[in-house]
Amino acid sequence: MIGLLFFLQTAIAAPPNLVVRQGEAVRVVPVIGSTTGAYIRADLLAAALGGSVANAPNAHYRLTLGDTKLELVEGVPFLRAGTSIVPMMLPALRSGSTFLLPYQVVSALIPKVASGYFYDNGSRELRIFTTVVRHPAEPQPVQRAEIPPTIDNGGVSTAPSTARRAARRGTRYLVVVDAGHGGPDNGMTGPIGGGPRLVEKDITLSVAKLLAQELRGDGVDVLMTRTTDTLIALSDRGRIANRNKGDVFVSIHVNATGSRGSAAARERGFETYFLAEAKSEDARRVEKMENEAVRFETGAYAPKGDPLSFIINDMAQNEHLRESNDLAETIQQGLKEFHPGPSRGVQQANFAVLRGSYMPAVLVEIGFGTNPEEASYLSDYSNQREIAKSIAQSVLDYISHYEARVSGGTK
Ligand SMILES: [Zn+2]
Repeated sequence: MIGLLFFLQTAIAAPPNLVVRQGEAVRVVPVIGSTTGAYIRADLLAAALGGSVANAPNAHYRLTLGDTKLELVEGVPFLRAGTSIVPMMLPALRSGSTFLLPYQVVSALIPKVASGYFYDNGSRELRIFTTVVRHPAEPQPVQRAEIPPTIDNGGVSTAPSTARRAARRGTRYLVVVDAGHGGPDNGMTGPIGGGPRLVEKDITLSVAKLLAQELRGDGVDVLMTRTTDTLIALSDRGRIANRNKGDVFVSIHVNATGSRGSAAARERGFETYFLAEAKSEDARRVEKMENEAVRFETGAYAPKGDPLSFIINDMAQNEHLRESNDLAETIQQGLKEFHPGPSRGVQQANFAVLRGSYMPAVLVEIGFGTNPEEASYLSDYSNQREIAKSIAQSVLDYISHYEARVSGGTK
């Protein structure tokens, strides 16, 4: 509840600036208010996005962002993107030699017509993702240089890692790593009965970063849904994964008991979920808890409720149910090797964060932050690294099994 109040306050007091974020680099572009709505200077936006703006004949002007060219006309509420004409809620304007774009161009149109952009409405942030290069089956010589070299071990032959095998086949895998919660949504806090405070969003971000590092070290491409303490709508986490054509989606979370008593504090262990109807009472509890982040999100991100989109979504995810189950089993087995546990097994639940991702998708509850011992275990950096290493290895193993199944033509 405290988190929700905080969010409402920040929404009202939001500074009139656009934040442009690319990895760790941040640029701020002022937003200009008018009686009809918000505008942004085209030249400042172009500079922040590494693009350019230029005059075109007949009071037109052109914003160039990489391959994407947007053409606007003073006083006209439409823009041209390639061959399509896109309506805007406000017309483009000119003030002397300065061109002004309706803010909607930033919040809705650029993320739609250009690739590699994502707009987070909660933080008024436009994020730029590095475009992932997909290697074709027959790599060009210039692309072959990007394939990780095999290890020269003085004649000793070593088993190539999954990623290296994958690279030889000419495919690089993209794993989307999702750190649960963020920004005003703390997730759970613990432990019960006091002790050093644990905040779920911090633990998930730390483990997610370590997981990304491990996977990249193994030659797998990684996209993180967040790298800072920021709020991303649950539905957008899946959307980010889809837009970038992820192969695997892994969401990291910390578990909490439903009640706060001393008996509840004893509950501990790790479990891995894949998307399906929640099967047990306990799975329903975790599902409800993790889906609650929706209350931090603004109306723009609320589920659309379009029955057709839900059915299509459901069908697309169903194809991946078996794959998601395998991935969850592999991760759960890996954690059993060292996690003080106990293993609570692989579970099924209907998580909003997994619902929108059209790829094998799992959610890992790496332990109970409500249990004092497990909270201190999860807060320890070397334990976080061990968890991340194990999940990374399981993802590689899963990819390797998957490849063997596909190439062997067996199930
Ligand atoms: Zn969570």
